[in-house]
Amino acid sequence: MLLDRNLHIRAIDSYIDPSVPRERAIVTHGHADHARSGHGSVLATPDTIAIMKTRYGEDCARSFQALDFGVPLAIDDVTITLFPAGHVLGSAQVLIEHRGQRVVVTGDYKRLADRTSQPFELVECDLLVTEATFGLPVFQHPHPRHEIGRLLKSVVDNPERSHLVGSYALGKAQRVIGLLRDAGWDAPIYLHGAMIRLCELYQELGVDLGDLRPATGTVKAEMAGQIVIAPPSAIRDRWSRRFPDPVVCQASGWMSVKQRARQALVELPLVISDHCDWGELQQTVHDTKAKTIWVTHGREDALVYWCRTQGLEAEPLNIQGFEDDGGEGEA
Ligand SMILES: [Zn+2]
Ligand SMILES: [Zn+2]
Repeated sequence: MLLDRNLHIRAIDSYIDPSVPRERAIVTHGHADHARSGHGSVLATPDTIAIMKTRYGEDCARSFQALDFGVPLAIDDVTITLFPAGHVLGSAQVLIEHRGQRVVVTGDYKRLADRTSQPFELVECDLLVTEATFGLPVFQHPHPRHEIGRLLKSVVDNPERSHLVGSYALGKAQRVIGLLRDAGWDAPIYLHGAMIRLCELYQELGVDLGDLRPATGTVKAEMAGQIVIAPPSAIRDRWSRRFPDPVVCQASGWMSVKQRARQALVELPLVISDHCDWGELQQTVHDTKAKTIWVTHGREDALVYWCRTQGLEAEPLNIQGFEDDGGEGEA
């Protein structure tokens, strides 16, 4: 087998998104459960390398090799090509070709257009390794425009309150800001300190997020009617008391689970996901024309079962180390 069930490409002794330090790693994207520090050499897109260096430091791997999307890299008799996964900036699917056999490892992905990430490209293959974070029929994400509309309506309806939007620092924060801008919100957006470096990096890498300002140091009364982006852990703690009567919001695919939103004490849950929903997972399995499907990273059994009903070979991978919240709730 070209690829084993630990996502190890034996012919070139490289692991994809290894959870422990490896001599050679191919990293699909910058989320903590995929990109870890301490590898020997890392092969990834230039944006992912920039994100890793920003989060973990310049020396988080011994060496880096940047590979642009769509450029084949031959290593011995294996060819590696990265294609956009549409999940966060720089996120890639990995195509592995060897003697006519094509294997695609999706990493995390979504198919809906998102201007803070390069758009997903479908890659046909023989073996598809797909994530399944939202791999249950109950997950059918609403359009994010609709969710942002609910947020903006609440801002209009509650002019004396500030809105704190809990969003993870890589990907979700920038996506929410981009969606707000696209919906016409051109006021300054205020950032918790944990958001600032990655938002600046996105802007440096060409993603326009408009006027962003630090939330610390602002005057409480002047924050009425304003929108603040902060990590989910901050929106309910002492930090939030600096804002007038905050409306606690959270942007996540998990917000479609009402019980989860309630437990998190979220007043305004926003179902904004950076992963495929159930329909998009099925569509992708179908569109890639793959005959064999390996399912990882989430609710594996339902998708495996569905693939088998379609006459495909399918199995769950049960890889340790991928967390359904991405270790940082990147859903
Ligand atoms: Zn991710
Ligand atoms: Zn993930």
